[in-house]
Formats: sequence, C-alpha cells, structure tokens
Amino acid sequence: MNLAFSSKDLLFQQELQAFLAESLPDDIRERCARGLIVGNEDLIRWQRILYDRGWMAPNWPVEYGGTGWTLTQKYIAAREFAAACAPLPTFGITMLGPVLIAFGNAEQKAFYLPRILKSEDVWCQGYSEPGAGSDLANLKTRAVREADDYLVNGQKIWTSYAHWANRMFCLVRTDAAAKPQKGISFLLIDMDTPGIEIKPIIGLDMGHTLNEVFLSDVRVPVKNRVGEENKGWTYAKYLLQKERSFVARVAQSRHLVQRLKSSVSEKKVGAVPLLGSAEFRRRMARLEIDLQALEYTELRYLSKELQGEPVGPEPSILKIRGSEIQQGLKQLLVESLGMYGVPYENDSMKLSDSYMEVGPDHRHGILAEHLYGRGATIFGGSNEIQRNIISRMLLGT
Ligand SMILES: Cc1cc2nc3c(=O)[nH]c(=O)nc-3n(C[C@H](O)[C@H](O)[C@H](O)COP(=O)(O)OP(=O)(O)OC[C@H]3O[C@@H](n4cnc5c(N)ncnc54)[C@H](O)[C@@H]3O)c2cc1C
Repeated sequence: MNLAFSSKDLLFQQELQAFLAESLPDDIRERCARGLIVGNEDLIRWQRILYDRGWMAPNWPVEYGGTGWTLTQKYIAAREFAAACAPLPTFGITMLGPVLIAFGNAEQKAFYLPRILKSEDVWCQGYSEPGAGSDLANLKTRAVREADDYLVNGQKIWTSYAHWANRMFCLVRTDAAAKPQKGISFLLIDMDTPGIEIKPIIGLDMGHTLNEVFLSDVRVPVKNRVGEENKGWTYAKYLLQKERSFVARVAQSRHLVQRLKSSVSEKKVGAVPLLGSAEFRRRMARLEIDLQALEYTELRYLSKELQGEPVGPEPSILKIRGSEIQQGLKQLLVESLGMYGVPYENDSMKLSDSYMEVGPDHRHGILAEHLYGRGATIFGGSNEIQRNIISRMLLGT
C-alpha cells in the first residue's frame, strides 16, 4: 500500500484548501466546528456555493454533474472538507442520487438529479418504522395500487430532518403475501401531499432533528416508484451501502482531538495541568492510537477498491470503530470540562446568544453534541448488526 499522494493530488489538495478558506462562510464553519446543528437555510447557502464551484456531488458520474475526481481525490476532499469544518452532504446527494442514477428511469433522472444539485429539493429517508429498524424487511407501511396511484398508509419513525424536507424516499409494502424482502417498493413522496403528518421527536440533546411521519391515504403517482414494483429491497440495500461508505469520519475525529486538547489546555486538577495528568494522557493516547489504526484500515480499504478488489466487511468495521471513537472523544471532552461540561442551554445554541453562556465559550453546546452522538452507534445500521454482518462474512455463521 503506497500512502504517498502524487504531486497532482497534492496540488488538488492545495486547491481545495484555498477554496475552503475563501468560500466556506465563517458562521457556518464556526457552528460545525463546535458540533452545533447547521440550519436548513445555512446548509442550502453552503451547498449553492459548492454547486457554483461544480463540487456539489463528488460521488456522482460526471454526466450527471459529478466532479470526475479519482477515488484518491474523493478521499482527500472528504478529509479537507472535514478538517475545514464544512457541513456534510445531505441525503439527496449521498443516498438518493446514486440510487436514481443506478435504477431511476430517464424522466426521474432528468427531473430530480438537477434539483438535488441545485438544492431545490431537500430529501429525508423514510425507512425505519416501529418494529422495523434493524429488521427493516419487517416494515408494514402499505401501498395499494389504485389506477395510476398508490394509496399509502402507515408510519415511519426516526425520520431525520423530515420537518425540513419537501420530499421523502420511502420503503413501502406492495405485496403483503410475498416473503418480507420480496414485497417492498421504493417510492418518492412529496411531503406536501394531503395525508402526511409530521410529529417531532425531541432528542436527548433537547434538539429537534428526529420525527415520526404518519401517512394516511397518501396518494402517490405510480410514476414516482423507482425501479420495479416489489423489487425495492434491492434498491434499498444499494442505498444503505452508500450510507455506510466513508463512515469512519477519521478527519472529523482528528478535528475533535485538536478541539479536545485546546478546550482543556487551561484546566488543572489541583495544581496539575489536566493535559499532564496520567489518567487523561492514558485515555487520550488510547483514543489517538485507535484513531490512527482506523485511518490505516480506511486507507487499506481504499487501496483495495483502487485495485478493483472486492469489498469485504470493511464498511462495517469502519462504522463500528469510527462511531465508537467519536463517542469516546466526546465523552472525554465532556468529562474533562468537569462542571462546565454538565449544563447545556439548548435555547442558546445560536452563536449570537453566547452572552447566555455558562462557563467558558468553548464548551458551548458540548453536552448536547455528546448526547446527540450517542446515536452514532445506532443509525446507519446499529453496531451489533454490523458485528453480525462481519461474523457472517468472515466466519460464515
Ligand atoms: C440519530 C438517528 C437518526 C436516524 N435517522 C433515520 C432516518 O433519517 N431515516 C430512517 O429511516 N431511520 C433513521 N434512524 C433509525 C435507525 O436506522 C434505526 O434506529 C436503527 O436501524 C436501529 O433500529 P431500531 O431503532 O428499530 O432498534 P432495534 O432494531 O429495535 O434494536 C434495538 C437494539 O437491539 C439490537 N439488535 C436488534 N436485532 C439484533 C440482532 N439480530 N442481533 C444483535 N442485536 C440486535 C440493536 O443493535 C439495538 O441495540 C435514525 C436513528 C437515529 C438514532
């Protein structure tokens, strides 16, 4: 495995760094750097800057508006965007776009893909239901064909940002008699269709990102189905693969390491600086070593892909270790801040409200971020399920 970047890649890296330094708005950078949620309007503001630069969809083929970057360049870009604290791409870019490109018809591609690129549509993901999360094939939301429409009834849950979205890609059951995986279809639903109700779920962080979505006699035109009826499981799995790629979030964790060290640099335990205390150093070293090992695993995976070798259990391994390391770093950050790590003022999570602060400015929002981060080992397929996948692949059990 050759870890050195070519001179062309190094130039590309410099170009990215210059663009990010110049074009990423300071207020958005600041919110991301502190782990605060970036609002919908700010996200769109940033995405339009990326669109103008032609860098909105690195993972899409060039003919649909992709960047044409090599795998190494995509890796460098992901690293630089994270290091600059740029917001992560949204569901339309990372998940739905690739599914439409692979399985959508010409009309769907022509209509939806440019709208995603220009941030004209905000998408949410209607997969999970009560009783159908890890066991996704158990989903119960029904879609019954009536002439040129499906009539959809059921409930989705944990739908991130449904309250921002104007469209939802959704799994529905179109054949209740078939085996669970065989009777599912993949529908694109306008969120302003009559019969859709969104109820917020307030998280441990007291923030509103999650929702329940209730669907009662929602009419969805058949032309909004992606691919064939009852073949939705194939498209759903393809999408989940996309969701789990680049999940290690090494660059974000590296940023967190720096933030942790600078946030606690003034702190003392008695007369001893915290950074010099044996316990802190032991925990910090453990996390940094784990992060280094994760980075090498990610690079090995990338190297395999570059050589066209089949992908093994790596995405699951990256998901497990990456989410655990993120949680470990945030936990240490909260604990290290002592009493200042405890309170959180959700109402003051806007930068302009920082006069409300309890404690030093840098702790602003940290506990809320840590609590939201508890979900990292659950979403995108819980870590227990990823372990099952690894054992099935490697041990055949
Ligand atoms: C912050 C956040 C955002 C989310 N956003 C979305 C979204 O936008 N759209 C969407 O569709 N979903 C979303 N989800 C839902 C997420 O995909 C599910 O929570 C996840 O798939 C787990 O399903 P579940 O909650 O039903 O838990 P369950 O499946 O009920 O699992 C409960 C526990 O049992 C364990 N378990 C279950 N089965 C097994 C098994 N066979 N072997 C070992 N352990 C097992 C699980 O790992 C877990 O620890 C989000 C979740 C979170 C936390």
